[in-house]
Amino acid sequence: MNKTVICPGSFDPVTLGHLDIITRASGMFDKVIVAVLVNSGKTPTFTTEERIQLLNDAVSGLPNVEIVSFKGLLAEYCKQSGIDTIVKGLRAVSDFEYEFQMAIANKKLNPNLETIFLTADSDSTFLSSSMVREIGSMGGDISNFVPACVHDRIVSKLRK
Ligand code: ADP
Repeated sequence: MNKTVICPGSFDPVTLGHLDIITRASGMFDKVIVAVLVNSGKTPTFTTEERIQLLNDAVSGLPNVEIVSFKGLLAEYCKQSGIDTIVKGLRAVSDFEYEFQMAIANKKLNPNLETIFLTADSDSTFLSSSMVREIGSMGGDISNFVPACVHDRIVSKLRK
């Protein structure tokens, strides 16, 4: 069976935690669609185009990964695209309640949709895009938090 899964998120910007989940998913499934959410509640720091470009560069070594953007409901996007599996990363108990609610809500909206959780790597359980933005904007070293190939671009945007 040819299995395509989707990894949704804001990716504002991509971190090594995201890349770890995407890389592991790409080894488990035939194709991984990384879906950048366009209409999250708050205005992102990086534009949709920037977030897509950074992700594209970060996954350039993974031939079965494709980056797309989507608006509206993930469950609807999956239905329209014929995708029935979401892959998400779980960092800590603090992620659990929200992710659990989202998984159930998505299944109510689209009963064919399953959500699979991969546990975060021990090195990135503390890592989030908001932490990268905060540290980077104050001039801190984020080289251990973001993919090396996109580090300089992330730093220059955050220091503006
Ligand atoms: P963030 O909380 O960093 O803004 P996103 O909304 O972009 O995260 O997250 C997209 C997906 O990546 C979610 O499934 C989230 O749980 C996962 N993820 C985010 N950061 C990490 C990390 N450090 N380790 C593992 N998974 C992560």
